[in-house]
Amino acid sequence: MNDHRTAPADPAPAPAPSEEADEVRRFWAGLGLPGLIDVHTHFMPERVLRKVWDYFDANGPLIGGLEWPITYRAEEAERTALLREFGVLAFTSMLYPHKPGMARWLNGWAAEFARRTPDCLHTATLYPEPGVEAYVREAVEAGARVFKSHVQVGAYDPADERLEQAWGLLAEARVPVVMHCGSGPAPGRHTGPEPVARLLARHPRLRLIVAHMGMPEYEEFLGLAERYDEVRLDTTMVFTDFSEGFMPFPGRALPRLAALGDRVLLGTDFPNIPYPYLHQLQALERLGLGEDWLRAVCHDNAAKLFSVA
Ligand SMILES: [Zn+2]
Repeated sequence: MNDHRTAPADPAPAPAPSEEADEVRRFWAGLGLPGLIDVHTHFMPERVLRKVWDYFDANGPLIGGLEWPITYRAEEAERTALLREFGVLAFTSMLYPHKPGMARWLNGWAAEFARRTPDCLHTATLYPEPGVEAYVREAVEAGARVFKSHVQVGAYDPADERLEQAWGLLAEARVPVVMHCGSGPAPGRHTGPEPVARLLARHPRLRLIVAHMGMPEYEEFLGLAERYDEVRLDTTMVFTDFSEGFMPFPGRALPRLAALGDRVLLGTDFPNIPYPYLHQLQALERLGLGEDWLRAVCHDNAAKLFSVA
């Protein structure tokens, strides 16, 4: 446990949706913000999402024996409605393949989802496989505004040669990539800062958003953000009681986090979280980095990056 907490509290079970929405809205209104921008939310084809939920239900031991009850297990329309009630002005549909031949299909679904969900930033994904450059180009041309790469689930080296052209294209197009590259909650063969450092050495202008702030290799990933101006970090699940219980953010790194205030972006992992949405916001607030930092993280940084009004 960290010593920087000012208000430790066990996350309560999710309150009634309208009650929680009131509290979330009070949070951003109190900061004088028009709402929140959440760069890390999951929407995917229904049967894929069901499989993800089954995984969390059944495979607790693979994620450290943790119980991981999904708080917002609801139909898609209810989930988007809830984000709107919370006042989330823009969000994403993080989706990712675990094998070849899947990314193009996921991208088709995500393009369609973005079409019928105007507040979702059109999201796409990729995998090291033949044809990746072509479908990444197609997605960018079709208006994809953010990509997701999952190094642990995909079990690939982000610096894999087969991705070389795709990364170059995304760097050139200045399209951000949210990458799950840290070794939490469970490590993979290619997780950790080293493969990402190799990738950035070749593509220093790639707009990489390190998911979960690189949990648990927080300090190494902060170092990459300090070194590369286009590297950002998302807050997804970090600083919550749940994550602090097994992969705590080191208190000594807080000044570095404060200094990188223009490159930290709110992310939550909604709906796949084992606590209420509000708890992520409170977890950021209790860091004590101040209201300017919170305004930047919860809205302004992403508004600028994605040109959201
Ligand atoms: Zn996620």
